[in-house]
Amino acid sequence: MKAAIIGTGYVGLPTGVGLAALGHTVICIDREKSKIDALKAGHITLYEDRLEELFHENVKAGRLSFTTSMQEGVSQADIVIIGVGTPPHPVKKEADMKYVYAAVTELAEHLQGYTVVAIKSTVTVGTGDDVEILIKKKNPAAHFDVVSLPEFLREGYAVHDFFNPDRVVVGTNSEKAKASIQELYKPLAEKTTMLFVGRRSAETIKYASNSFLAIKIHYINEMANFCEKTGADIEEVAKGMGLDNRIGPKFLHAGPGYGGSCFPKDTLAMLYMARQNDVEMALIHTSIEGNRRRKIQMAERILNAVKGIEKPKIAVWGLAFKNGTDDCRESPAVDIIGELLDYPVEIAAYDPKAKESAFNLLGHKVQYADSMYEAVQDADVLAILTEWEEFKQIDVEKLSSLMRKKKIVDCRNLLDKKTMLDHGFSYQGVGR
Ligand code: NAD
Repeated sequence: MKAAIIGTGYVGLPTGVGLAALGHTVICIDREKSKIDALKAGHITLYEDRLEELFHENVKAGRLSFTTSMQEGVSQADIVIIGVGTPPHPVKKEADMKYVYAAVTELAEHLQGYTVVAIKSTVTVGTGDDVEILIKKKNPAAHFDVVSLPEFLREGYAVHDFFNPDRVVVGTNSEKAKASIQELYKPLAEKTTMLFVGRRSAETIKYASNSFLAIKIHYINEMANFCEKTGADIEEVAKGMGLDNRIGPKFLHAGPGYGGSCFPKDTLAMLYMARQNDVEMALIHTSIEGNRRRKIQMAERILNAVKGIEKPKIAVWGLAFKNGTDDCRESPAVDIIGELLDYPVEIAAYDPKAKESAFNLLGHKVQYADSMYEAVQDADVLAILTEWEEFKQIDVEKLSSLMRKKKIVDCRNLLDKKTMLDHGFSYQGVGR
């Protein structure tokens, strides 16, 4: 099939590369010329495991190309997939649909022949209906169906998740559109469940899922606070809970709170939609508020560890919102650093992938180290804020010799507590 993907961000690019790898002919469209120029020149614009090799393979095979021209991308396509951003509205915090509507306005006139317009962006419930009306208005002759095709990939595992989706949710009542989406995902059909539902249900599934996961994270963080007071260990508690099939082991890792480009904005958007529809969603409200406080709590722990030291040096390991990505949008690490910077402290930070994107947010307010050891040189405390595997491989002796004070606040429970205590560190994890 011929597919056009609009938006070459964290969703659009892995989706485009993945569909090309399945054998489709894919053209990726972005309005940012610098991104398209970089991609055309063979420079990948974001970090995801295995993305780069697949990208080059498929460009070489002639299945993957890039353009800023809506006409070039859309006119040939059997399916147009919209993957543009839906950030929170600056005032109301609802999902801002302006990029979706701008993309739809631009694409409508270029539709030729029967085309499925699939909305992969996370959109307010009812957007599919509005998009359909908009296309009909802009191009009354167009022969098309609008489908909701929400994306569930996890950043850091985008390529893996593309090829191994838990489910592909498709919101449509059109048999023709259904057949097109089945054809698109045919090579993955045996590996996954394709769930065909109404368009509004598909749009809701995305928000319902993300809000649920955010609540789960908030829940385990509250439980971690409880464990700290009672002498239980959250790692053991989470393990015991996770063995229950009804609960499952995932998203039970106590930490510094959720972040990234999805959970914070999607919970806010869900809450906004609930209010608009006069429905109370107290759990979501509580998790949003609890998550905000969580980052302040973590900053307080770090500051407590350097209490009494004049202009302490704080080493930070991890800036990305999670491991496996360079994405720092709504990163708990960045928020925690923001809290720390209200005080007279010096911060040296290290992240294996996210230095550049963190710099866009934090600028010169922190020093950026090139290695985890450089960051801890003469530090009074080490704060671990992202769960990168490489942090687990530390040489404890070396760490010990480099730090001024042997203190660790491990907001990800990444290090072995006993080993750190045996080496004379004061060690504080979460919930243990
Ligand atoms: P992103 O900001 O990384 O990428 C969006 C891209 O769209 C940008 O490159 C931007 O230049 C481009 N764009 C915007 N308007 C355009 C237009 N009119 N024409 C062409 N290109 C345009 O966003 P993202 O993280 O990839 O998220 C995209 C959508 O997918 C959002 O709705 C998000 O909620 C959803 N989503 C994201 C994830 C994730 O892990 N990032 C997971 C699931 C769903």
